Amino acid sequence: MSDVFMNTYHRLPVIFARGEGSRLFDINGKEYLDFGSGIAVNCLGHNYPPLVRAVSEQAAKFNHVCNYYQSDVAAAFAEKLVEACSKAGMKNVFLANSGAEANEGACKIARKYSLKKYGPGRHTIVTLRGSFHGRTITTLSATGQEKFHRDFGPFTDGFDYIPGGDIDALDKALDKAAVAGLLIEAIQGESGIIPQTGEFIAAAAKLCAERDILLMFDEIQCGLGRTGTFLALEHYGVSADVVTLAKGLAAGVPAGAVLAGGKAADVFESGDHGSTFGGNPLAAAAGLVVLKTVNDPAFLREIARKGEKIIAAIRGWKHSGVKEVRGRGLMIGVDIESEAWPVLEKALSKGLLLLSAGPKTLRLLPPYTISGGEIDQGLAILRGVLDA
Ligand SMILES: *Cc1c(COP(=O)(O)O)cnc(C)c1O
Repeated sequence: MSDVFMNTYHRLPVIFARGEGSRLFDINGKEYLDFGSGIAVNCLGHNYPPLVRAVSEQAAKFNHVCNYYQSDVAAAFAEKLVEACSKAGMKNVFLANSGAEANEGACKIARKYSLKKYGPGRHTIVTLRGSFHGRTITTLSATGQEKFHRDFGPFTDGFDYIPGGDIDALDKALDKAAVAGLLIEAIQGESGIIPQTGEFIAAAAKLCAERDILLMFDEIQCGLGRTGTFLALEHYGVSADVVTLAKGLAAGVPAGAVLAGGKAADVFESGDHGSTFGGNPLAAAAGLVVLKTVNDPAFLREIARKGEKIIAAIRGWKHSGVKEVRGRGLMIGVDIESEAWPVLEKALSKGLLLLSAGPKTLRLLPPYTISGGEIDQGLAILRGVLDA
């Protein structure tokens, strides 16, 4: 293990050298089944042949043009992405590189929308307790978890937090005179795969519409097919003013996006926002493969079916220390009686890669392309580790 990295991550003792489908191989050639997809990034597994082809072909054409110009590949990607999100009301897109950067864009849109219409002072963005929105100074402010609000202050002002599911608190917090936007994950990822209720999302949509507050969905982890619909908000039958995406957007090539619809679509004007690498041709080429593959009803149904199979299997285990299984599609949280991290370590030694989401919750985010046999194999390893 190299020790020149800054000590920012709690790492497991393994160094990977290559991947193939749902499997990774370490530098000694040991094989691991991947139930984490690099935290929802490698949604098509590793070395997905159409993606390898698309990125290789693009690399042989050009890897970058600055945002003085459009490129054919970024334009094609943007068109397809907006089309895929049109059910949620999206009309246009800003291409970025990461989730935090996408959420920064969303916050800027909400603030400018409000400023232009109502003048200064109405700039608060409300988010949920337990949310995770990124690691920049502003997106740490947006993240409704105290542990992220230490050491790096002063943080960006103008964020307020409410408990998910609490419609009274939502009603109180969405003060028409002070609030520009509401930013929520339909299903919270980092804090334990916590879905919002239909009533809460419906109330959020209604209150935001009535009070002219932008309704913004952070779909960075739960979007892009992860829960069996292209966007997770589709489960709730609402549309959005702003949607942010990243993680699986280019299946392993860095990419992020802010999409906007309706009154939010024309907020950004020339010079308002920018990103050197945003719309990068390699990312756009990879993103086109993701959209072509994932935004397909039959493919999305398979994601839902695979998830149901995993959830049913784990719920059927006896004596394994499992307290609760939650989730939708291939976004699954498993509350266990013991600490999660030692389970991750043991599973690693048995050749299974897992994630955690909170101290006693395992998080399963397998690639969409995982086979039935691989699911069975991974579940057998997990059950063995939990039973031991
Ligand atoms: C990972 C994540 C982010 C941050 O994305 P980065 O690419 O790491 O900046 C933001 N929101 C959610 C819901 C995430 O899961």
